[in-house]
Amino acid sequence: MPPEDLTAQDRTDHMADFGYHDIPRAEKQRRVRHVFDRVASRYDLMNDLMSFGVHRLWKNHLVDLVRPRPGEFILDVAGGTGDVAQRLFDAATGQAHIFLCDINEAMIREGRARALDHGETWALHQGHGTAGITLLCGNAENLPVADACFDAYTIAFGLRNVTDKAKALAEAYRVLKPGGRFFCLEFSPIAMPLLDRAYDLYSFTVLPQLGKIFAGDAEPYRYLAESIRRFPDRNALKNMIIHAGFGTVKVRPLSGGIVVIHSAWRI
Ligand code: SAM
Repeated sequence: MPPEDLTAQDRTDHMADFGYHDIPRAEKQRRVRHVFDRVASRYDLMNDLMSFGVHRLWKNHLVDLVRPRPGEFILDVAGGTGDVAQRLFDAATGQAHIFLCDINEAMIREGRARALDHGETWALHQGHGTAGITLLCGNAENLPVADACFDAYTIAFGLRNVTDKAKALAEAYRVLKPGGRFFCLEFSPIAMPLLDRAYDLYSFTVLPQLGKIFAGDAEPYRYLAESIRRFPDRNALKNMIIHAGFGTVKVRPLSGGIVVIHSAWRI
């Protein structure tokens, strides 16, 4: 059926946002995978360039809130090249069990190669009780792990890319132990009159140009800017987290609300 013939309910059921475009739901995952296939080799460099290194502070803030302790099991979903996973592991003085799950093998491979360059080995299979970083290839909507086995769940700059966000939140709830902690670090649409204009100018003109110059490709960075505008605002996301069953949801805007950390407890 052509998209213009869909009713509002059909649209909700069958369509998903892909940046400013509405595309069939079944297609979003493939399109997102394609984006990250294209950026994988330059992902870490581009993060530093685009945010002037500030993404490191945001991730450190996230890790400070998680406060990983030796012996804990922590799942970092949409973990990409492992930037957050490595910080979590280091914060637990190398004595926690960190699992990185991402849908895109190219991103995981890139992170693993970088870790090897630094003399660290990330496991492809769960070790026998030993602390370390274990890599899993899987979808946030259908995590390849058992119920109630993690002390904490993190997702950084990942939820925006997931097709069915409610399903991903339900999965987060499923895999956390009762009393487990949930953390989501994500860009957020901002609503401050002057800041939002400067931010629009930067993200719709400068970012794609940076992408073109340093990664040879502007398109993924246009998607980045558009997908942030389409992501639920901080209150809508808070309500989605409550709806998934979590308690004590806290919302912490950083850098004028450009990014927000939502945290909650699995009851
Ligand atoms: N968390 C990392 C960081 O902060 O550097 C990577 C964030 S990157 C912007 C988004 C990641 O989400 C990509 O690695 C992509 O493959 C992953 N991703 C997208 N959709 C996903 C899904 N449905 N399930 C798991 N990972 C997904």
